[in-house]
Amino acid sequence: MKIGVLALQGDFAEHMVVLNRLGVEAVEVRHAKQLEGLDGLIIPGGESTTIGKLAVDFNLLEPLRQYGKEKPIWGTCAGAIFLSKDAHRHQPLLGLMDITVERNAFGRQVASFEVDVEIPMLEKIQPGGGPYHAVFIRAPLIEAVHGRAQALACLEDGRIIAAQENHWLATVFHPELTADDRFHRYFLQMAGYN
Ligand code: GLN
Repeated sequence: MKIGVLALQGDFAEHMVVLNRLGVEAVEVRHAKQLEGLDGLIIPGGESTTIGKLAVDFNLLEPLRQYGKEKPIWGTCAGAIFLSKDAHRHQPLLGLMDITVERNAFGRQVASFEVDVEIPMLEKIQPGGGPYHAVFIRAPLIEAVHGRAQALACLEDGRIIAAQENHWLATVFHPELTADDRFHRYFLQMAGYN
């Protein structure tokens, strides 16, 4: 199993650490050629406009779209924005996942927060694993899911913080920043790891 992490900007190194800890070969991706042979790709958090512009400069936009048609992609935070079809403003997006996101939905950087969330589907990954501690850093919200996209996790008030559409996964929080690797294991399952 070989998983790529888009390494243009943001906290890709933290994802690499988790993948290595789980015994998976992890590859930093900066060029289209490095997508070859990957079982899945993670797009990290950071700044979605910057990631998008760098993807354009590195001629990665179209190769990433093609890759995503066939293979699993997981976007965390800025990565979730980049994966979406609609972020309410003009910026380079992969436009794969049929979700509408609202950038910086919780306010400015100082309004970042952490909260325990009940996420029933994580029972499949680890029965009795308990609530999930989610870290939000100037996070977006998944304002709406459309078509085949489905909400995977919500805050208590019903606002959507994780969604899935076929082999695409979007989380607006940062699983790579806590010791809880259930979301990484979930994505590895999506990518065919037993
Ligand atoms: N605020 C960033 C954006 O809109 C996302 C923040 C993050 O990835 N932690 O791109």
